[in-house]
Amino acid sequence: MDYLLEKVAYLKGLMDGLEIDDSTKEGKILINVVDILHDIVHEIADLTASNDELDEYIQTIDEDLSDIEYELYGDDDEYCDDDLHYIEVECPHCQETVYFADDLFETENELYCPNCKESIYNEDLSDPED
Ligand SMILES: [Zn+2]
Repeated sequence: MDYLLEKVAYLKGLMDGLEIDDSTKEGKILINVVDILHDIVHEIADLTASNDELDEYIQTIDEDLSDIEYELYGDDDEYCDDDLHYIEVECPHCQETVYFADDLFETENELYCPNCKESIYNEDLSDPED
């Protein structure tokens, strides 16, 4: 980008040096063309700068989103696991329908309702020994 800015600046200097002015038809056209080139190159420079800013911003958002995904789903492997199923449970305390990953019933001894925080599932209770 700096390369294009330099080229246009050089061209403008060259025109001054060659004393090309708007006293002739060709001079008028050349001055206008170089002015437009100058505007275009600066416009592109501005766009490139704001694009870089956006890139950086999107990257920050992407990183934040990854953090949130990690918080919600754990590591990526678990999130992408097609075998992960959810079990629908109606909370006996608040009657809210809540969902638990089915493997939680194997790994946890007790599960709590995310709505009212009461115990929904207790391995000892669900497996009476009598
Ligand atoms: Zn509940």
